[in-house]
Amino acid sequence: MIIGALTSLFSSLPSNDWPLKKIEIVQVGDPVLRKEARSLSLKEIRSQEIQDLIEAMKITMREATGVGLAAPQIGKSLQLIVIEDLDHSHLTQEQLLERDRRPVPFHVVINPKLFIEEKETAEFFEGCLSIPDFVGVVPRAKKIRVECLNEKGEFTVIHAKGWYARILQHEIDHLNETLYIDRAIHGSLISKEEYLQKLRK
Ligand code: ZN
Repeated sequence: MIIGALTSLFSSLPSNDWPLKKIEIVQVGDPVLRKEARSLSLKEIRSQEIQDLIEAMKITMREATGVGLAAPQIGKSLQLIVIEDLDHSHLTQEQLLERDRRPVPFHVVINPKLFIEEKETAEFFEGCLSIPDFVGVVPRAKKIRVECLNEKGEFTVIHAKGWYARILQHEIDHLNETLYIDRAIHGSLISKEEYLQKLRK
């Protein structure tokens, strides 16, 4: 019997609901969120295990109505991120403009390197699927560049601004043991409910 080298890598995956279902999102306090994630090799990226993991992360992100999900958030300390920001129905045209928020189709970011293209920052409330009931104001660079691999292992350069740049910075932080609450302006943390009330006003 041949046992693939990768099976041991992913031996901690839940066996009963694997592979293509929603995975439970790890909550703040779990040590995996405070661990440097390791990069993936080309061979790993092209493996069925990682392709299945990407699919499961996509399902999990969509079910949680998030705009990004990093592998540490589902308990895997790997430099792997999924992003999709298409539903803006809760924001007015003016709020979208203010946030410089545009539709971002689904895509995968692997082994990213972040470069700040413009030091000027924008400050907005930001939330996280691993800290579900709160939001805080986080300054983020307005314009960035990310060099990474896509789900096929191809080298990709992403130029991002506005909200998309914010999402990328937030998710890449997850790979570097950082949460938005580490960067939030002191005293800005409020409940999500309070934030949604503010948004409606
Ligand atoms: Zn997050």
